[in-house]
Amino acid sequence: MPWSRFRRKRDMPEGLWVQCKRCTETLFKKDLEANLNVCAKCGYHFHLPARERIASILDESSFIEQWADLHPPDRLAFVDKDPYPVKLAKSAKRSGLPEAAIAGTGTIDQNPVAICCLDFFFMGGSMGTVVGEKVTRTIELATERRIPALVISCSGGARMHEGALSLMQMAKTSGAIARHNGAGGLYLSVLSNPTTGGVIASFAALGDVIIAEPGALIGFAGPRVIQETLRTELPEGFQTSEFLLEHGFVDRITSRLELKGELSKLIRLLWAYPASRPTKISTQTAPTVK
Ligand SMILES: [Zn+2]
Repeated sequence: MPWSRFRRKRDMPEGLWVQCKRCTETLFKKDLEANLNVCAKCGYHFHLPARERIASILDESSFIEQWADLHPPDRLAFVDKDPYPVKLAKSAKRSGLPEAAIAGTGTIDQNPVAICCLDFFFMGGSMGTVVGEKVTRTIELATERRIPALVISCSGGARMHEGALSLMQMAKTSGAIARHNGAGGLYLSVLSNPTTGGVIASFAALGDVIIAEPGALIGFAGPRVIQETLRTELPEGFQTSEFLLEHGFVDRITSRLELKGELSKLIRLLWAYPASRPTKISTQTAPTVK
């Protein structure tokens, strides 16, 4: 290839085009965004910011955000490349979000839901005390108002910067889901790419219905760790949505473009008459870590 061809490619205005990670097609960024970050050619699902995802699922202008002022403590005075508070500030600036999850209430085809959505663009969607707290409060609000709970996961797992406090979120969120379930509540869990570590080991795996996006990486530990620990070859496609659907862990695989319709259908089918449902246990608030 002549040098001039390379030069022309480098001169292409930056930020206007994106190359698909799977089919390598060059996509016009605005078209990609209009298609909810799904490649029009091969269906590859790029990450989608939490606010755009919520807008794509809920009825227009129905979202009422809650608990936006929660900020994590720096109990360990953790420093990696930057001190933890500096890292948080940089992530907030980059992502335009106060934390790696946003939560609140809204409606899907006029059906009310409590919703929490994780955002990969904020520290890899990692779960610290704030993410755990928002997921827990979302579930508790759903129990209290007797509406379905919906959590959309996109996370590398627990946030190491908050140490054991991050790990405690696994028990806290799971407890809230157990109480919601005991009260006859509906909880829908959507897994997007990636959903791993402490998130898949707690609330993401506990949905009454678990929906995964196509081709998402879903698993606890990475394949290399498992391979080295078990000293065995892993099957092809291990830890993908498709593999987990085949093995019964995931209930459905749904394209992001059809997710709203799918959730609406599930809510209509599984949550037809919420007012007549008995509440078996109280909606006492769980002790929270903050
Ligand atoms: Zn593609």
